[in-house]
Amino acid sequence: MQRRLKSTRRAASWVAAAAVALLTPIEPMPDAHAAARRPVDGEALISAADDLTDWLTHGRTYDEQRFSPLERINTGNVKNLGLAWFADLDTARGQEATPLVIDGAVYITTAWSKVKAYEAVSGKLLWEYDPKVPGEAGVLACCDVVNRGLAAWGHRLYLGTLDGRLIALDRETGRLIWWKLTVDRSKPYAITGAPRVIDGRVIIGNAGAEMGVRGYVAAYDSKDGKELWRFYTVPDRRGANVARHLKRAEATWKGEWWTLGGGGTVWDSMAYDPKLDLLYVGVGNGSPWNQAYRSPGGGDNLYICSIIALKPQTGEYVWHYQTTPGDTWDFDATQHIILADLQIGGRVRRVLMQASKNGFFYVLDRVTGQLISAANYVAVNWAKGIDVHSGRPIENPDARIDKTGKPYVVVPGPGGAHSWQPMAYDPRTGLVYIPAQEAGFPYVPEAHWQGAAQGFNTGIDFPAAAMPADPKVRAAVMAATKGALIAWDPIAQQERWRVAFKGPWNGGVLATGGGLVFQGNAAKEFVAYDAVSGAQLWSSSVQTGITAAPVTYSIKGEQYVAVLAGWGGIWALAPGILAEVAGPVRNVSRLLVFRLGASAQLPPESPVPLPPLDPPATTGTPEQIAEGARQYGRFCGGCHGDAAYGSTVLPDLRRSALIADSKAWASVVHDGVLRDQGMVGFANVLNLQQIEAIRHYVIKRANEDKALGLR
Ligand code: CA
Repeated sequence: MQRRLKSTRRAASWVAAAAVALLTPIEPMPDAHAAARRPVDGEALISAADDLTDWLTHGRTYDEQRFSPLERINTGNVKNLGLAWFADLDTARGQEATPLVIDGAVYITTAWSKVKAYEAVSGKLLWEYDPKVPGEAGVLACCDVVNRGLAAWGHRLYLGTLDGRLIALDRETGRLIWWKLTVDRSKPYAITGAPRVIDGRVIIGNAGAEMGVRGYVAAYDSKDGKELWRFYTVPDRRGANVARHLKRAEATWKGEWWTLGGGGTVWDSMAYDPKLDLLYVGVGNGSPWNQAYRSPGGGDNLYICSIIALKPQTGEYVWHYQTTPGDTWDFDATQHIILADLQIGGRVRRVLMQASKNGFFYVLDRVTGQLISAANYVAVNWAKGIDVHSGRPIENPDARIDKTGKPYVVVPGPGGAHSWQPMAYDPRTGLVYIPAQEAGFPYVPEAHWQGAAQGFNTGIDFPAAAMPADPKVRAAVMAATKGALIAWDPIAQQERWRVAFKGPWNGGVLATGGGLVFQGNAAKEFVAYDAVSGAQLWSSSVQTGITAAPVTYSIKGEQYVAVLAGWGGIWALAPGILAEVAGPVRNVSRLLVFRLGASAQLPPESPVPLPPLDPPATTGTPEQIAEGARQYGRFCGGCHGDAAYGSTVLPDLRRSALIADSKAWASVVHDGVLRDQGMVGFANVLNLQQIEAIRHYVIKRANEDKALGLR
């Protein structure tokens, strides 16, 4: 592994340009019209479960159950649900945010970290805010330029931006009040998650463990953005750690893990128990994925792939539970965390639940972190089960790949049995509704792997794992790649019902007092199910894939259901043809709001834009094409699709005019002339010969797919 990566040079260029215009510190501004609206305070958030009007925090309540008691829309009348209004968005990328609803307004974030406020009854745009994230920051995102939402406190809204800023806005006007850079811009950090606020402390983590960073979560003063504490999840180089939890973690690492940061990013889930005064955070995978490179010789590598309890006042460590010790498969433990009180073994247990990416559903005692039970909610083959006494997985030794040697098709793969899409817990049915997926992945060890200054750093040979052009293989893998909405009994650790979907990457979930479960999907529908039986009671055709989670709110006795639509995110971009198991989907980015008896219509659906697949004749020597395949798989596939099978969201290179023009191709891929649009140059990791080889490879792949009659 390279001792020092060249990332500093890369980051410096665009930061310098952006900083002058955007990142100049400003004095905190007073809030406008602060008296006109009620502030969101600790009392409002702690009692949010009883709030039948608004949706005040990401998971609706601090326990993140995403259950609303609203019952005006119910199993009896949901068939009359119709579109009340919709708002078209100005970004055509993945939309993953959960809206907030406060005092008659709906607030959302969109792709590229933009914010919009709408009048909740009419859909009238109240204001919008664009943090002007530089296009070049797109390369920091492992999984599309998404944002998952806002936090509210006082009269302000808070968001993290893709380029690592934490921003405070005036809720009334959308005016910028303060901003704070929360990351080291010389490293590939990004923010996609929604902040939470506890007693005036704005809590936010970051992403980047696919590229190579050191993960942490931090608290900032809601007044002025001052950093109050920072909790690192993985130790710095040996002997450099002062914090006790990190000193302890040092012994669980080997080699020189810090060269790529170690990973362990806190990129999505958080929950808070005000009675215990504990903040729970989910921690992601290590950097690089392959442990044989990250920590040669093994070790648990604390605290990657863990759920950690912290004191929100100080960031002090309280306990941790590691779902996947020594992870080597990208099994983040960042999935939605739900807190509930469950009757288990004759007594009420205060539990924490997670349907983790590794395929197991965990019920932990949230006072102590002790494992109560765990069971797999989809098929898995990397572990036989979880030993309830030690809390550790009973690993399948074949699944643990090395630097060289045998590959293994691990189920689930890095797409996960469950990703960031929120679940919901209905205390009336006692069921957790999981947006699950089933997909394996061939983990091929990459011999002689080295960290690079840009792009994914996994230690897995993605080029070798690329989908072959053989139609039989494609058909078999597509058939094995599925999605499901699973109703899970967390006490019995058993499935109660399941809605099977053709493809993975379906939407987050909302449960309501009307006995309903709402979920959008990859097949362009927004659906209501009976919470008890799973029967489909209503659906609406929405013209695009939905991955975000719905919310519900009530104004003057009328109940509304709102959801962000807009196909994108990692499964829409990276897996190539596997992104289309449920059929090709185009991105139509919209906020959709439904109520009973409404009858608004979407404009006519336009077809998926599919210019003809008409590549030039295959060029290049076999050696060039092989080299192109290698470099494409390492540096390009994460955004432009496995085996160059492009999405409808980002440019499909097989159809690009650039592949016929060697010079124009190099001006983009080497020189970065399209950097403002999100396509940076790769001159720091690829030379001109390699870039030309990639062009030959894409032309070859385009011709193969044309011959097969694929889109
Ligand atoms: Ca990950």
